Amino acid sequence: MKKILLINTGGTIAMSQDQTTGKVSPTSDNPIHQQGHLLQNFADIDVLDFLNIPSPHMDLEKMLELSQLIQEKAKSYDGIVITHGTDTLEETAYFLELTLDLPIPIVVTGAMRSSNEIGSDGLANLRSAIFTAREDHSAQKGVLVVMNEEIHTATYVTKTHTTNLATFQTPTFGPIGILYKNQVTYFQELIRHEHYHLTAISQDVALLKVYAGMKADLFEAVLDHGYQGLVIEALGAGNLPPQIVPILEQFMEAQIPVVLVSRAFNGVTEDIYDYPGGGKRLSQMGVIFTQGLSGIKARIKLAVLLNAEEKVSIKQAFQGK
Ligand code: ASP
Repeated sequence: MKKILLINTGGTIAMSQDQTTGKVSPTSDNPIHQQGHLLQNFADIDVLDFLNIPSPHMDLEKMLELSQLIQEKAKSYDGIVITHGTDTLEETAYFLELTLDLPIPIVVTGAMRSSNEIGSDGLANLRSAIFTAREDHSAQKGVLVVMNEEIHTATYVTKTHTTNLATFQTPTFGPIGILYKNQVTYFQELIRHEHYHLTAISQDVALLKVYAGMKADLFEAVLDHGYQGLVIEALGAGNLPPQIVPILEQFMEAQIPVVLVSRAFNGVTEDIYDYPGGGKRLSQMGVIFTQGLSGIKARIKLAVLLNAEEKVSIKQAFQGK
């Protein structure tokens, strides 16, 4: 039997609903502990409670601690499953993707309905995650996110719906695999993986979403507050309102990297338009364009690059060349 480590961090999968008020909150005894024995037929599972927090309480420091814990435990297991709140699951999963390079499957899962709600998906997602983690062919695919019987890459998956069980999706490409009742099947894979070594987090990155008529004041605040990097969710293929351009010159002068993604759900950014605020001029200024990452993923990546032990070219790391 495969040996799997289950690391709990909290989230709805570890919560229950008060049947009178309808409030959903963390419980002192994680419901996964009561339900866990149902999964022991599928693998030899050890359980480690790392955290019991709602995922809006997650931050870069805790992500790094989790990554270090996985690194330390990996040699004793055939696969590792992490349970996590769904709100920031994709950020932690991508942080793990960028900071771990392990020969065993690493799978992140969660739930949209808590343990005692009708139609609770926690146990089913956990079963799917364990099925995925115990398969040899789930290794070397990067960190995987398993929800609703689909397997997604940590790099491109995103939460698309506030409450629907089918909330986790991969825009543009779709999932890389599917779980049938007793089978794990893959039909595509990522062509590029990258890994960085981090020992501490000291540099922080801000994320701003652009809207029609946006002024420069929020960008000034980012500069004044001493962020070491900025990610902008820009318009369309990568354009900005012209009034934002002068403040970006100040970022360039201060050598603060500015990474541009699109606020559009599908597609990549490209430096196409040549007008004030247009992508062509932004890239000539030194703004870095990315290939398909969402704003929150690009923020995680820029933070990882800025905090990495390796000296990396941020531009090269984002442009994949
Ligand atoms: N708010 C919860 C959390 O992210 C939602 C969830 O777990 O799905 O922890």
